[in-house]
Parts: sequence; structure tokens; C-alpha cells
Amino acid sequence: MRKFRDRTQQSSAPSVLLIPRCMSLPKGYHHSEKTKRKIGAANAIRRLGTHHTEQTKAKLSAAAKAHGFGGLNEYHGSAQHRLVARKNWLGKRNPRWRGGVSRAETRRNWINRNRDRLRFYYKLRKARVKGAKGTHTYDEWEALKKKYRNRCLCCRKREPAIRLTEDHIKPISKGGSNFIQNIQPLCLPCNMRKATRTIDYRPSALQS
Ligand SMILES: [Zn+2]
Repeated sequence: MRKFRDRTQQSSAPSVLLIPRCMSLPKGYHHSEKTKRKIGAANAIRRLGTHHTEQTKAKLSAAAKAHGFGGLNEYHGSAQHRLVARKNWLGKRNPRWRGGVSRAETRRNWINRNRDRLRFYYKLRKARVKGAKGTHTYDEWEALKKKYRNRCLCCRKREPAIRLTEDHIKPISKGGSNFIQNIQPLCLPCNMRKATRTIDYRPSALQS
């Protein structure tokens, strides 16, 4: 084994063929000249660090002194600096401050405010599971309801006296899609009565 490691004695034996590649090379990486230049440039940039203008330097230095440090160099990176930085990111100083409401409460409030939207997403998923082609957005549904002045197209009752539901003109079970073009607003009783028939109430609704 010693023979293989000592590369000065290579001439005495046909060892060139026998020496494994990993042993024949000196230690370390072998970068191309181009890669070496790239690494060199990257390291040079890292060595430069942050460059502040004189004005900024003065500001930072003053801020450090205000916190009871000799200057910026003494302040930066110290445990005290980290503490102050953390404190400055807490509570009202944080841009994501929610007014002292807990995460869980924020979530609950959102759910309470968006029940209709959640119900909509639930139905959307149901249609997808049933294998319906296409989809539509909550805004499209809202716009559709508004277009028919929040009326049930069948019995003409209006929200909020009734709650409008999405009826598939051609039912999904009959191969109808979930595109907005296949949706009409009906109240739940009318929707149930229609069941799996294909009835388009839209033309009559626009006449009145
Ligand atoms: Zn109705």
C-alpha cells in the first residue's frame, strides 16, 4: 500500500494503471479556472460587507449610542443588539400586528365572517368529487346572484327571506358541468323540487 501513496516512486513500477484515481490526485477540489474566478469574485463581495453612506453611518452610530453603546461596532452583533432588535419587532411594532387578538380568535372571526364562502368551497369540492367538469369562482357566483337581483329564478322570492343555492341547470349526475354557465340561483325548496331534471329558468327570469 505504501508504494501507491508515495507518488515520487511511480517511475519504478507500472503503477499509473494500478493507482486508483482517488489516490493519485492531490487533496481538495479541482475547479476549472472559470469556476475559480467565480468563487473568487463571490468571496470578494462577501468580504466587502454592507456599505453605508456616511449619513447612514452617523444615524446608526447615534442610534447605538442612544441604546447605551460606545458606537456602532460595539453595538452590532452583541447580545444586547439582538435583544433590542427583537423587542423592536414585537407587538404593535410588528407590521403583522393584529390588535392583540390571538391566532385562534383571528381564525374564528374569519370563519364567522366568511360562512357563505366556506359553504361555497365545500360545494365546489363536492362537485369535483362527483366528477363534474369545470369550475367557477365565488365572485362569479356572487355576480350571478346580483344579475338576477338576488331572486330565486323559479318562485321569485328574494334574499334574505330565502337563501339562494347553486342549481346545476343540467345536473352533474346527467353529465352537467360546474362552469358558471351551467349554474342558476334557486332557493333550496325549488332546487329540491327540480331534482335531477334539466330546466333552464334563466330566459323567463330575464323577461320579468
Ligand atoms: Zn324558489
